[in-house]
Amino acid sequence: MTREKLAGVLPRAALDTGAALEQIRPVCEDVRDRGAAAVREYTARFDGVDLATSRVPARALADALAGLDPRLRAALEEMVRRVRPVHQAQRPADHVTRLGDGAQVTERYVPVSRAGVYVPAGLVPLPSSVIMNVIPAQVAGVGQIAVASPPQPGHGGLPAPAILAACALLGIEEVHAAGGGQAIAMFAYGTADCAPVDVVTGPGNAYVTAAKRLVAGTVGVDAEAGPTEIAIIADHTADPRFLAADLVAQAEHGPLAACLLITTDPGLAERTGAELLPQVAAARHRDTVRAALAGQSACVLVDDTAAALAVSDVWAPEHLEIQAEDAAGLAARVRNAGAVFVGPYAPVSLGDYLAGSNHVLPTGGTARHTAGLSVLAFMRGIHVVECTATALATAAPHIDALGEAEDLAAHVAAVRIRVPRGQDVPADGTLAAGPPIRPDLAGRSPYGAPQLDVPVRLNTNENPFPPPPALAQAITEAVAGVAGSLNRYPDRDAMGLRAELAAYLGHGLTARQVWAANGSNEIIQQLLQVFGGHGRATLGFEPSYAMHPLIARATGTRWISGAREDDFGLDAGRTVRAVREHQPDLVFLTSPNNPTGTGLPLAVIEAVCEAAPGMVVVDEAYAEFARAGTGTALALLPRYPRLVVTRTMSKAFALAGARVGYLAADPGVIDALLLVRLPYHLSAQTQATARAALAHAGTLLAAVAGLRAERDGVVDWLRGRGLAAADSDANFVLFGRFGDSHAIWRGLLDRGVLVREVGPPGWLRVSIGTPAEMAAFRIALTEVLDSTQGGAAQ
Ligand code: PMP
Repeated sequence: MTREKLAGVLPRAALDTGAALEQIRPVCEDVRDRGAAAVREYTARFDGVDLATSRVPARALADALAGLDPRLRAALEEMVRRVRPVHQAQRPADHVTRLGDGAQVTERYVPVSRAGVYVPAGLVPLPSSVIMNVIPAQVAGVGQIAVASPPQPGHGGLPAPAILAACALLGIEEVHAAGGGQAIAMFAYGTADCAPVDVVTGPGNAYVTAAKRLVAGTVGVDAEAGPTEIAIIADHTADPRFLAADLVAQAEHGPLAACLLITTDPGLAERTGAELLPQVAAARHRDTVRAALAGQSACVLVDDTAAALAVSDVWAPEHLEIQAEDAAGLAARVRNAGAVFVGPYAPVSLGDYLAGSNHVLPTGGTARHTAGLSVLAFMRGIHVVECTATALATAAPHIDALGEAEDLAAHVAAVRIRVPRGQDVPADGTLAAGPPIRPDLAGRSPYGAPQLDVPVRLNTNENPFPPPPALAQAITEAVAGVAGSLNRYPDRDAMGLRAELAAYLGHGLTARQVWAANGSNEIIQQLLQVFGGHGRATLGFEPSYAMHPLIARATGTRWISGAREDDFGLDAGRTVRAVREHQPDLVFLTSPNNPTGTGLPLAVIEAVCEAAPGMVVVDEAYAEFARAGTGTALALLPRYPRLVVTRTMSKAFALAGARVGYLAADPGVIDALLLVRLPYHLSAQTQATARAALAHAGTLLAAVAGLRAERDGVVDWLRGRGLAAADSDANFVLFGRFGDSHAIWRGLLDRGVLVREVGPPGWLRVSIGTPAEMAAFRIALTEVLDSTQGGAAQ
């Protein structure tokens, strides 16, 4: 069974875009030349409304969502919940290919900057179309997504309310009331109301399709959508009622819809025909259905399933249903189809709405070479080529030969100017390559603040006060107490320590709700190991603690960087929108935040807990330093079983050297962590040391109060000097802004004061030290500022 033999035998409506092309060309050219004025004129002419701007006001989007029928809203939300993860799984990973001795090619997948999604009006608005086009763009990471849909005179010149509501549901803020070829040209060329996009997707009538073909050189476009079609491969096990229902469902799309029943059972065509009669008669769109079934539709009788697959592959249907024995086995052998629906309970109608797969699929036989809409429509792989001198020398003789053969002598010269002949490495070229580490870690530098031996070290947010002598003594005794039994493994579950940490935290917590590890860094690692990992994603809001993305990467978890407001805070609405958009497996919130220092209002944390589909981790490493009135997320634990609050003894307990971090969460979370923790991860000395320190909590917290006062003084002093200082709930202060913050950092270091270059450009972070250290800081900074004429503070 070949394509040639079957050509013309299998039915399919012929589509002629030629006429539409010629009609729409002047429209597109006019929009290109005259922009918004032309769009306005065509909108008045074709849609019967005069709009001063194509841009739909934000209020209309919000109103449409508020007015959406709750049943439809719930259905759309469920659709989003299913479609998003399927598309998240499509995101290609960047991959690095090492070609030995310093030559490597990385393929970086980068989303386009701006996409335009067209949503036709049709007889009935299709909000599902918004979701199927917008979600792949969002998941791809497209920065700006604009939607256009024809204005409806009945709705005050706005697009259909269901379309607007679906946009609002997905967090789309830019919607244009524009339709047809003028909307496509608006996207492609840009107007005063709508910046040009990089990619246009979305279905439409013949004019929209023609316009997309015309602008295809200027922007990327998705595949052309022709009339919809279904092929069903069915054998004697198929239920004729189901077959008839699916044929009618496909045919109701339009008179040009094509339906092909391919069967191995001679009696099945008849049985299906008998079912079709009453179902067609009862169909709401029976005339359309009749036209489609009488037109380009057929039943093909074949000898066996192999022949059925061959017929289907030649036709290359948009949708292929397999209702036959071993449907999954047959599905695995399909070569050409937009989407395959396996077995009696996966009808195409499921795929149109709720399978999670995309319903924008190739038609007209283009499934032979084209896939359905995916994140790849909105991304491009960029080859990043890296090469050392040695690796170039290895390649040079071959470039000599190729350049000569193609008579491109300058190509050869451009290589030879770098690696002259005679300096080639041996012909086999192989120099020792480094160890074969994971490609995503290749070329990375280890994390770490400089550990410089300077008099005033204010760069790692340590507690400047050593443990008081009584505590040092207590630690010595506690460690001595376990020294004699170090032949045994320690308490694997650190129950004693956890009970004491729970008592310290209060909020009614018990040992079952507390977990401890070597620093809160290890806590974060364990959380990412168990809740993140390959194929999963975590969202954080930067700038924040740099180890969050680094540990995410180390555990193979995709990091999604959310943005902060200009004042470094988080706006509840925008934060929730980011959570809804990305549906991350974990969200990291840092409160007080590092490096900006400010605590997060509980209302924001609460809103994130309400919206997040997975875990919410609140990193409260500096909680004890918060200003009065700043709440702790511990208070929210009883309401959110997926909330985790992490803490550390490194800061308030002046115990950074002992490495003790801990968390409070639902006992189920702690059970999950047991799956990844290494056995006996917390040494006997560590447990003993931490418990000794906890017994001195009162004294240590008194010292924290002193540091808070010192910090508030530093903030006031910095502001008094005309500098900016972020509000701080922590034991450090972010200050700036400097034209050349590195010069300020260097100037301070030259005077024996080490602060941290971290955070947004132009800012520096200083940890709160002893009063003497802070005095040294103030003197040094004064000198540096004076010597650089106000430090070029901005
Ligand atoms: N979270 C934040 C926000 C931090 O700043 C730090 C350390 N500076 C940590 C966690 C890790 O602390 P540790 O591993 O010492 O507990």
